[in-house]
Amino acid sequence: MTYSASANRYDTMAYRRSGQSGLKLPAISLGLWHNFGGIDTFERGREMIRRAFDLGITHFDLANNYGPPAGSAETTFGGILKADFLPYRDEMIISTKAGYYMWPGPYGEWGSKKSLVSSLDQSLKRMGLDYVDIYYHHRPDPNTPLEETMAALDLIVRQGKALYVGLSNYSPEQTREASRILKRLGTPCLIHQPQYSMLARGPEAGLLDVLDEEGIGSIVFSPLAKGILTDRYLNGIAPDSRAAGPSAFLNPDELTEETLDKVRALNAMAGERGQKLSQMALAWVLRGGRVTSALIGASRVSQIDDAVEALRGLEFTSEELARIEAILA
Ligand code: NDP
Repeated sequence: MTYSASANRYDTMAYRRSGQSGLKLPAISLGLWHNFGGIDTFERGREMIRRAFDLGITHFDLANNYGPPAGSAETTFGGILKADFLPYRDEMIISTKAGYYMWPGPYGEWGSKKSLVSSLDQSLKRMGLDYVDIYYHHRPDPNTPLEETMAALDLIVRQGKALYVGLSNYSPEQTREASRILKRLGTPCLIHQPQYSMLARGPEAGLLDVLDEEGIGSIVFSPLAKGILTDRYLNGIAPDSRAAGPSAFLNPDELTEETLDKVRALNAMAGERGQKLSQMALAWVLRGGRVTSALIGASRVSQIDDAVEALRGLEFTSEELARIEAILA
């Protein structure tokens, strides 16, 4: 059936400015790392993108290698765009990335100008787009001069193939240096994409400070710890969960009794707040306004509903924050 976006789509979502840029992002963004590949059902992915957009989620995050097979999430997304979203392109922020292994030989990964330009050309073809809104370098490259990688990002913007650029998985020091180069080139870094959740606190050790200093926004990936910070694993491994599926990225070994004890205590606390654990986990990364957007994944429409509902309960008392620290300690 022809899709027509909900007339109420901007009524409840909060939009936050990314660093010192002109761009606002939804507090919840949707990533297509899992559940949109060639192995997944197209119609299910289409339903999720429709639902997300109807709830004000304007930002969709991809990468060259998302699938499986690598590239297929972009192909799926391109199909969904073509079927439903061409009239809405100007209401969408679409990102992709390059840096991880994508094709054989010396140019299919890392951070050379050759690799970044070629990979984006492939991504644009797969998605049927003229440009992406944000293009990321997906991981730092120890062997390519940072000047070359940043010059490639700057070139891509000047060519009109991306509007903004971002960095992912860069350390605080690498981020500061990259940001200075990008500013000098005239293409400031819009955003950084690090992993951050109650179970992965890395960005608190310096990165968030650098982002504040440099005026860069942040969009944090796996805020639900890939599903661990939900009710998914409270009573064993649900057969339709990520840990039970073919993904290599959530090993059941991560679900230790020690972690599950914390998850159970957090789940009880979320219940007292009138939230699901997944909702408290999203509220927690968004607390205090330091993070621009929480970048979730979803395997079904109801999980997107849950995430947006979390925005109704973003406040924490200092006692609640202390209790979370005690549980996590
Ligand atoms: P999350 O931590 O949000 O985990 C998402 C998973 O949690 C879902 O697929 C689902 O798993 C489960 N889940 C979500 N909501 C609920 C709910 N309400 N109740 C129960 N379970 C729920 O994020 P991801 O790990 O998926 O990463 C999100 C995005 O971040 C990616 O799509 C990608 O865009 C980006 N990313 C970037 C990386 C980088 O290097 N830059 C690396 C990794 C991710 P289930 O299948 O079990 O239902």
